[in-house]
Amino acid sequence: MVLVRKNILDITPYIPGKPIEETQRQLGLKEVIKLASNENPFGVSPKAKEAIKRNLAKINRYPDSQGFYLKRKLARCLDVKPANIVLGNGSDEIIDIIIKTFVEADENIITSKTTFLEYEIIANVNGRRIITTPLRNFKYDLKAMRKKVNKKTKLVFISNPNNPTGTYVNKYELKDFMNGLPPNILLVLDEAYDTFIDVDDFPLGLNYFANKNVIVLKTFSKAYGLAGLRIGYAIARPEFSSYMERVRQPFNVNLLAQAAAKAALDDKEFLSETRKIILEGKYYLYDALQKLGLPYVPSVANFVLIDLGRDGRKIFRKMLKYGVIVRDMYQYGLKNFIRVTIGMPKENERFIKALKKVISK
Ligand code: PMP
Repeated sequence: MVLVRKNILDITPYIPGKPIEETQRQLGLKEVIKLASNENPFGVSPKAKEAIKRNLAKINRYPDSQGFYLKRKLARCLDVKPANIVLGNGSDEIIDIIIKTFVEADENIITSKTTFLEYEIIANVNGRRIITTPLRNFKYDLKAMRKKVNKKTKLVFISNPNNPTGTYVNKYELKDFMNGLPPNILLVLDEAYDTFIDVDDFPLGLNYFANKNVIVLKTFSKAYGLAGLRIGYAIARPEFSSYMERVRQPFNVNLLAQAAAKAALDDKEFLSETRKIILEGKYYLYDALQKLGLPYVPSVANFVLIDLGRDGRKIFRKMLKYGVIVRDMYQYGLKNFIRVTIGMPKENERFIKALKKVISK
């Protein structure tokens, strides 16, 4: 007898980037680099580390359920009110909170195919219908998405920049799309990779959330280097955020994460160095890939999608033998591609060296 809910039975689980320790253990390798989960290769902000040490002795206590100090600091940094912020155990959790807060059982959610997989997985876990349209030239096809909007549509997710392509919706495209949406629909702009954007026409959600039905998602997992602590947040008007607070578990963001995130916000040096490393690494990779004759999708994030013209999973497995973990794109429906996270200069060089060997065989 199957006791599990039908929609859970049907879910394909999220496959994360392969961990370093697992690769070392399975392949008997010492030196393994991971360029598979869009983490910060530069490490952890020294200020965040200090804050964690200072707070270690306090973890016998529950964390501040309201995240008072972190919200206050974020509000100052972003020029919003603390009431505009909802903290989450990673922005993954915020996606869940949003779906639980806003989408009725008979309503649907619209996003693109070949985007962050958690939108679909979390929608399915919650038994909510998700409708997707294919990418066009590796970008969200907003016109096609608009056509899918119907009376039962409540939520639209846009990963901007998009994971795994690194492409983005520009401000003209976004404005057109927002203007064409019926009034009772919420638009979620997921800006996990905002720090790495190097174009002028990017529409930051912070400029829209006050006047439109927009919720912005941010994370400390990427540029801030705190992926292992799990902390992200939403920016939303109180008419949305206050209800999300009702759905949120009271102690969802742990004490060390709150302290580290608050300190990381002060570490402007760490952030600008991170950005510099990523942008320089990106141009190094573009150049090296061009020399290898491998097409790639230009990215405004900290990863690059590469068209190998051959089975990406096979290449991924062969790269492992050289101690380089990248991400195959099977789950995203891009079988001939891999996604590589931009690393430190030495890591990028090692990746290119291994790739060269593997594709020449
Ligand atoms: N949104 C996007 C687009 C992502 O790529 C990721 C991380 N892979 C997340 C959200 C989740 O980030 P976290 O839960 O670590 O904050």
